[in-house]
Amino acid sequence: MHYEGIIIRPPSEANSILLQITVGCSRNRCTFCGTYKAERFRIKPDSLIQEDIAFAAKHFQHQRRVFLCDGDALIVPQRRLLGILQEIGKQLPWVTRVGVYANAKSLRKKALNQLKELKAHGLRIAYVGLETGDDGVLQRIDKGATAEEMILLGRKVKEAGIKLSITVILGIAGRERSKIHAEETGRVLSAMDPDYVGALSLMLIPGTPLYREYASGVFPLLEPDEMLRELRTMIARTDLSGGLFHANHASNYLPIRARLPKDKASTLRLIDEALAGKVPLRPEYLRTL
Ligand code: SF4
Repeated sequence: MHYEGIIIRPPSEANSILLQITVGCSRNRCTFCGTYKAERFRIKPDSLIQEDIAFAAKHFQHQRRVFLCDGDALIVPQRRLLGILQEIGKQLPWVTRVGVYANAKSLRKKALNQLKELKAHGLRIAYVGLETGDDGVLQRIDKGATAEEMILLGRKVKEAGIKLSITVILGIAGRERSKIHAEETGRVLSAMDPDYVGALSLMLIPGTPLYREYASGVFPLLEPDEMLRELRTMIARTDLSGGLFHANHASNYLPIRARLPKDKASTLRLIDEALAGKVPLRPEYLRTL
């Protein structure tokens, strides 16, 4: 397979065939994100993508899922993206799910009927970084969309029949707006009603604008108990119609996996016990991105 730069994928795509169709991220401006800072965004040549699909057809016959890398592969123009999905369908007929990262920019460009067309050709899940539902923080971290727009974009994905997985970041608001961030994120998640929510805990990446804000004393990093309080408020404010709320990423202090609304009360109880020191937190040296 032809991989360029840093390849990342959601934890749930650990066993997927990673097919890189773009390099970098077409936005590449979020102040906390250092993943693609060294890359100029580009779509890979069709010839390379075809070679990789042919390679996967020969060597990855036991993997049922494909994940399209990089940062927001949904940005690939509709006709090319459809061609890639058709080729996957033809050469890898055992694949049951294709996933992709998407951001506000790429979701804005795809009309509902185009998303439905992608779904019909195998696209089954889109991973979207919301990070926060607080407009003040969205602006500060330069996500390039408002909370209300993110709700509409998320609903569009769901209406197309594509599963929606949303990432939010504990600690991204700093200390002053921590409560507003948690409350507003719960509100936006409830309005979007995604199938999955993944809550990560902020880890600062050297070289990013947010790291520089931290180093100069402008942005504070929350303590573990402050992140947990944020998580508690967020979950208390989130009403899903059966979605899965994960906070079991390796960056988190307390692993959580809750089906909402069913597990809400027990999850809040677990967080309260952790805050009271009755449940051990993941030690700092074991946290990673
Ligand atoms: S849209 Fe995602 S990948 Fe791109 S810069 Fe922002 S956080 Fe990073």
